[in-house]
This record gives sequence, C-alpha cells and structure tokens, in this order.
Amino acid sequence: MIRKVRPHINQNEPLLFERSSPGKRGYQLPALDVPAVDAAAVLGGRNTRAEIEGFPEVSEVEAIRHFTRLSTHNYAIDLGLYPLGSCTMKYNPRVNEQVARIEGLAWAHPYQPESLSQGILEVMGALEKMLAEITGMDAVTLQPAAGAHGEFTGILLIRALLESRGNPRKKLLIPDSAHGTNPATATTAGYAVENIKSNARGMVDVEELAKSVTEDVAALMITNPNTLGVFEENITRIAEILHAKGAMVYMDGANMNALVGIARPGDFGVDVMHLNLHKTFSTPHGGGGPGSGPVAVKGPLAPFLPTPRLQRVGSRWTWNYDLAQSIGRVRAFYGNIGMHIRALAYILAHGGDGLRNATKDAVLNANYIRTLIEPYYDLPHKAPTMHECVFSDDRQSKRGVRTGDIAKRLIDYGFHPYTVSFPLIVHGALMIEPTETESKDELDLFIDAMISIAQEVEENPEVVLKAPHDTRTSRVDEVTAARKPVVRWKPESTSGKAAD
Ligand SMILES: *Cc1c(COP(=O)(O)O)cnc(C)c1O
Repeated sequence: MIRKVRPHINQNEPLLFERSSPGKRGYQLPALDVPAVDAAAVLGGRNTRAEIEGFPEVSEVEAIRHFTRLSTHNYAIDLGLYPLGSCTMKYNPRVNEQVARIEGLAWAHPYQPESLSQGILEVMGALEKMLAEITGMDAVTLQPAAGAHGEFTGILLIRALLESRGNPRKKLLIPDSAHGTNPATATTAGYAVENIKSNARGMVDVEELAKSVTEDVAALMITNPNTLGVFEENITRIAEILHAKGAMVYMDGANMNALVGIARPGDFGVDVMHLNLHKTFSTPHGGGGPGSGPVAVKGPLAPFLPTPRLQRVGSRWTWNYDLAQSIGRVRAFYGNIGMHIRALAYILAHGGDGLRNATKDAVLNANYIRTLIEPYYDLPHKAPTMHECVFSDDRQSKRGVRTGDIAKRLIDYGFHPYTVSFPLIVHGALMIEPTETESKDELDLFIDAMISIAQEVEENPEVVLKAPHDTRTSRVDEVTAARKPVVRWKPESTSGKAAD
C-alpha cells in the first residue's frame, strides 16, 4: 500500500508575512567591540529608517526558499512556447544580455561627462540611425520607456506641429481593431476619439474613413499589421486621404516584427510611429521589467522631438539642449539604456538578411498554426495572416466552452495561454502569436494540444470547463480578485479576506 504523505514543499506557498515569527533574523553579526552609538543621533533622523510595521521576520534560508519556490510557479519563455498574441513573447538570445552587462556600458552613469561617455553615446547614435533605416523615417528619439509612452510622445509631437501651424485640431480617428493603449493615449493628449469600423476582411473601411476625415481630425492612429494580424492593404490610399486634409498618420509599430526588412512605414505614408524594442528587438518582457518605445518621425516633426537630442559635432557625440520647438523631456535622462544596448546587439548580430529572415519566420510560423488549426476553430477574418492569427470560440461556445476555458485547458498541456478575448471586434477571441523563435517541433506540440482540446470539447466539455487540473491552483475567483483586490497585507487578512 502506498502511504499518503504530506509533500515537503508546500504547493500553496504562503505569503512571507505568514511565515514570519518575531525575532527571527536573516543575518547574524558578531558582538560589538566598540561603544554603541545612536545611529539616528549621528546620521540625523532623516537618514535612518523607522521600523516598518508588520515587516516579515524570517531566516535567510526561509526568504531564499520562499522566492525560489514562487519562481517555480511561473511559466516563462525559457520553459516553452508563450503564444500571447500582440505581445511578441519571443525568446531573446543570451548574447544580448551578455553585451548589456559589459562593464563600461552597464556602469555608465547619466551624469558622467560627455567626454567619458562617447562609447555609450555611439551606441545610442548607431541605434537611432538603424531604427530610422528600418522604419524609413528621418529621425528617432530613444527616450520613451514603453510602447504606450511612445504613443503619447508621438501624439504630443503631432499636436505640437499642428499647433505651430495654427490649430492643434480636436479628434483622433482610431480603428475598432486598435490596441487599448491607443484611445487611452488620445484622451491623455487631450483629443477626442472617433471610432473607425473595420470591414468584413478585418481592414479599415476606406469609404467609412474618408467620410470621417474632416478639418477637425489631427491624425489617424493605426496599427499595421493590425491586431487581427492583418496588413492594411490600403495603407497608402489611407495616408493620402489624411494628408489631403492636413491630418497625419500615426502608426502603432508594436507589430513591426511582421514588417522589419520587408516593408517600411516611412515608404507607405506614415508620419510618426513608435517601436517596442522589448517586443521586436530583443529584451525580455512580461515580468514588468523595463521596456523601450522609441519614436520615429518624418522630417517636419523632427524639430519637436524631446530634448536633449543626440548630435555629432566633428568626431564627437554631444547632447543638444538648444531646441526652441521641442515638446520637452518625456523621461529623466536619455531612456532605458539597457534596452538600447540589447536592441543594437540584436540588430547587429542579425544583420539585414537575418532581420528579414526573422520576419519571414514569424509570418511563416503564424500561418503554419493558422492552417493546421483552422479545421477545428472558427476564423472570422479570412484575409492573409501576418505574424499572428485570431480565431473565435464560436464553435466551442455552442457546447458551453468559451475562449477562457480553452486557454485554461492549454495550461494542462504545458503551454502558456494565448491572448483571451482580445481584440474586442472578435467575439470570444483566441489570439495566437507564435513568434519566429519557435521550432516546427514546438509548434506541432501546440497544434496537437489545440486540436486535442477541440476534440475534448466535442466529447467531454466538462474536462475543459474544469481545467486546469494539473496546476497548484485551479480556477480562482477572478471577479472578486478584480473587484476587491487585496493589495496591502494586514495581519487579519491572512484568511484571504480583503483588507481595505
Ligand atoms: C504591446 C502593445 C502596445 C503597448 O506597449 P507597452 O510597451 O506595453 O506600453 C501598444 N500597441 C500594441 C499593438 C501592442 O501590442
């Protein structure tokens, strides 16, 4: 008979606060061999820390084991495919990490004089130049710290240019397939949003758009390829319609991994765009770590770029702060340098042909998945797929199974879920982006899992509805978690009840 044992490692790791017991220390110092002094008196009260109420008291090994156990609860790109659509969760070569840790770069300080910073300035100068070439634009700022921050910077640039021409205008047009950050950006920058409907092929309806472009419109904010993974094939015509009315085209370039080396936004009418270095050009993301959202512009917008601007005077790099029309700073110092270094390393290591191949592989992988699972899932928009594909749960929902259930069952098969219920224009969306870094073997495993789940839905939907079965925690109360989040620990909240 097999005896039932209590596992040594608790699968439901408690909070560190709950492990605390008074007086435990993570360190031990030898007894003082000099007279004790009152630190607060010597350093001045401002420089000493007051006791933190309820701070957990644990030993070193308890703290280490706690965090190591938590780290094993996580799914990571280093474990397997992470097909989160729109997010471009690709594997990033370790060599880029190595380069970012080169001492002279990793320890460079923003207050270091320019004469001692020529190397790191060269990194930034080279990256700006390469991003301009890749996008087909005239000038680039590396300051914005993320995609949404880049959008905000780009729209402020448009506002500044239009203002200099006498009228900042009132509206931004945003297609219904846009990422949620687009309307948020528009509103924060003081513009009203007008929605543009997509047609049956999942593209901007050009007739519809033409009717909406008035003298009140500052710009169209368009994602290309859009969030359906579809390339806006009328993009040149769309740009002409806007330009004819003195309005501009902002492109959300978060999906540039479908275009790099193949098509340049600057060549199809885009005036300003951002890139997500943490999606397209290396840099791991998804854990809340730093990102980088450089903004690339056409010539007329360049004078408004954030201050300071990097420039080359003779053989030296220097910062130019003398920019009368600049919108000012959008970030302290010069941006997230570590991401710039990784992006430059990534671009140089790939070279032009390598980048183009990465793009082709991203598109090939998405189409491979699309083709093989299309017989089992509803694909509402049939236009050619670029780097991602978007299915709906239309067939499975007839058996009571929704996209979120399929995603949870996927966890049992060892995969991170795809993006659930986004974009909003597809009801019950399954948004899948494999990225270029996945091998055919890994894609085949994923495809098998998706087909197997579709069969389970037909034969035994309960299995899918109760998934995941093999995780430490199964279904959690998502509604209460969203409505009453416990964000601050209090002793009485140990039982799991919400603290205010
Ligand atoms: C990720 C993403 C953004 C936002 O980028 P962040 O770096 O997360 O701010 C904007 N648009 C699209 C299409 C994206 O995929």
